Amino acid sequence: MKLFDLTDRVAIVTGGNGGIGLGMAQGLAEAGAAVVIAGRNRAKSEAAAAELEASGARALAVEADVTQEVSCRALVKAAVDAFGRLDILVNNAGINIRKRPEEYSLAEWNEVLATNLTSAFLCAQAAHPEMRRRGGGKIINIGSMMSIFGAAFATPYGASKGGIVQMTRGLATAWAKDNIQVNAVLPGWIDTELTRDARAQVPGLHDRVLARTPAGRWGAPEDHAGIAVFLASAASDFVTGAAIPVDGGYSILG
Ligand code: NDP
Repeated sequence: MKLFDLTDRVAIVTGGNGGIGLGMAQGLAEAGAAVVIAGRNRAKSEAAAAELEASGARALAVEADVTQEVSCRALVKAAVDAFGRLDILVNNAGINIRKRPEEYSLAEWNEVLATNLTSAFLCAQAAHPEMRRRGGGKIINIGSMMSIFGAAFATPYGASKGGIVQMTRGLATAWAKDNIQVNAVLPGWIDTELTRDARAQVPGLHDRVLARTPAGRWGAPEDHAGIAVFLASAASDFVTGAAIPVDGGYSILG
C-alpha cells in the first residue's frame, strides 16, 4: 500500500543486529527501505545485514558505539555515503544493569544513561541536518514499560527510558517545522537476549509478565515490524511526539 511504502527510503537502526531492532529492521526492509544496521559487534551486524539482503533488501552493517558522538556522526555519514540520503532513524540500542539502587556505581549509572538516552540524542542531532536538507524525516525512539512504571531493580534504566519520552517530545516540538516526526515506541515484555538475562536474574518474572499481559504471551521482535513501518512512513505524517505502547495490553491493567 502506497501510504506505507518505503521504497527509496534509507533507515538506520541502532542495535539492529538482534532482538527488537532486527524485528523493526525486517519490517522497514520489507516495506522497501534500505537499512543500515549499527552495533558494536561487527560480525553480528554483518549477519543481520546479510539476512536482510537475502530477502531482497539493500542493507549495510556499520560498526558503531552510539555512546560516542564521533561514532554517531560517522554512522550517519556511512548511511549517506552508501545510499545517498537518510530518511529514518531508529534509536533502539539499549542495555540494562539490574541491581538495587544503593548498589550502582557512578560508572554503571553513566553507562546505562549514555547507552539508552544520550546515544539517542547524539544520533538524532547527527541525523537532523541530513533530514532537514531532504525536506523531512522520521525518528523512532525506543522506550519501555519503564518509561511509565518503576522497578526496584532498574533505576537508571527507568530514568533513561522516562527520559526517552521527554526527549521525544522536545525533538518533536523543535523539528516539526522541518517536517521531521519524532515518536517513541514503548515495548512491553519481549523475548530477546536482554530479557533472557532478566528472567534469569529476577525470580518469578516470566510468570508475572504472563499473568499481567492481556494478550497472554511475551512479545516477539517481529511484533515491532508494523509499528516501525507506520512511524517511518507517510501513514504517520500527522503523528509526532507520541509514545505508543506495543505491549499486548500490559500497560492498560491497573
Ligand atoms: P538486545 O540485547 O537483543 O539488543 C540490544 C542492541 O543494542 C544490540 O543490538 C546491541 O548491539 C545494541 N547496543 C548496545 N549497546 C550499544 C552501543 N553502545 N552502541 C551500539 N549498539 C549498542 O535487546 P532488545 O532487543 O531487547 O532491546 C532493544 C531495545 O528495546 C533497547 O533499547 C531496550 O531497552 C528496549 N526494550 C526491550 C524490551 C524487552 O522486553 N526486550 C522491553 C522494552 C524496551 P551490540 O552488542 O552489537 O552493540
